[in-house]
Amino acid sequence: MTDPAAPCDLHLHSFHSDGILSPAELVRRARGAGLAAIAIADHDTIAGQAEAIEAGGREGVDIVTAVEFSLIEAERDIHLLGYCVDPADGPLSTALAELAAARIERARVIVEKIREAGVDISFDDVRALAGRGSIGRPHVARALLRAGAISSFYEAFARYIGPDGPAYVPKRVLALETVVELVHGAGGVAVWAHPGRMVNDEPLLGRLLAAGVRGLEATHPNHNNTTVALIVAATERFGLVATGGSDFHFDEAMKADIGESTVPYRIVEELRRLAGGR
Ligand code: AMP
Ligand code: MN
Ligand code: MN
Ligand code: MN
Repeated sequence: MTDPAAPCDLHLHSFHSDGILSPAELVRRARGAGLAAIAIADHDTIAGQAEAIEAGGREGVDIVTAVEFSLIEAERDIHLLGYCVDPADGPLSTALAELAAARIERARVIVEKIREAGVDISFDDVRALAGRGSIGRPHVARALLRAGAISSFYEAFARYIGPDGPAYVPKRVLALETVVELVHGAGGVAVWAHPGRMVNDEPLLGRLLAAGVRGLEATHPNHNNTTVALIVAATERFGLVATGGSDFHFDEAMKADIGESTVPYRIVEELRRLAGGR
């Protein structure tokens, strides 16, 4: 039996979205960091789950299946984690395939706008960086870095692709209720990812809870101790699960390494109880 206090990192990204490591490499790093369980929560894709489960079995790291959705609610950018989803679920796979197609079209438009701003990158460069993964702004940022148009990953967001940049293009997102239904339909639990101080917005939190969100991500590199305490207090008040993880992508984009932001294994058990009990 796994020690309920054993550390787990429930928020990682692989090269199936905007990380750079394979699921198996993430599992090996997790084992090296002494983690009992991990969740690879790629943006809009569950393509990495099967490999993660296979590698986890080999390396003795428990895999909590996961996916990270983006949505807009009350004009705020919200991310939702779907934990314990069945990677073979049909409606979830269909919805994710549609989001992937929309991401490709968006990346084309972003590249066009960057070219209009005078930087010579091509859609094929960006697509090659994304591999078979869910293509996004971080791949554009890496193409800009390679082209020498910027000197750091973050500069891409500040100068080109962030909300105030000339090449900003919003992403196609699903409605809150749709995301929660997809997660529930696939047997999972919906958790508000890195809410930060937005957790104090009671009407917003109320809407998420009314839609069926059952947890809040508390430990996260963007949350200082005060924010973590606020979020944990909200989970206690509303009877929610408090999850956490490093949101590791890759070294240059890293605020915390794998295993530097963790939750105890009992949180994994709580997520599975919630997933099974619905
Ligand atoms: P996308 O889903 O294509 O809109 O890309 C969003 C991803 O870009 C996030 O998940 C982060 O990995 C990354 N990102 C967003 N804003 C920034 C930023 N200001 N600096 C660095 N990375 C960012
Ligand atoms: Mn990301
Ligand atoms: Mn996120
Ligand atoms: Mn993330």
